[in-house]
Amino acid sequence: MVKPIMRDVFFLGQKSEKATTDDMDVATDLQDTLRANKDRCVGMAANMIGVRKRIIIVDMGFVSVVMFNPVILKKDGPYETEEGCLSLDGTRKTTRYRNIELEYTDTVGTRRKQKYSGQIAQIIQHECDHLEGIII
Ligand SMILES: [Zn+2]
Repeated sequence: MVKPIMRDVFFLGQKSEKATTDDMDVATDLQDTLRANKDRCVGMAANMIGVRKRIIIVDMGFVSVVMFNPVILKKDGPYETEEGCLSLDGTRKTTRYRNIELEYTDTVGTRRKQKYSGQIAQIIQHECDHLEGIII
């Protein structure tokens, strides 16, 4: 189901809780809501649709990947950039890392380790920040 985008800074400023297999329906809502906002959005965290659970979705171009309980294990290659967010107006400066190693659980419950770089890595870092209550 397409959900409205949360813009309440107090809600978005809170840390999200560990996700479980009971939260699988949130994955579907994230897929639907990302698709509905595809022209201006490349990723979302569950709190952006009002669910304070550690779930993100990342647009990888050919497919959108939902990740449960993502943890950035390693990062290198810091750089300064500017980002926008559906939950905010305008853009903000931030530091991101070119390469990351991520651990997450996929939608069938398998824990995976994967390396990402460039724009996909940047989107993942932005969405993982949301889980900590950080909006850019
Ligand atoms: Zn955002």
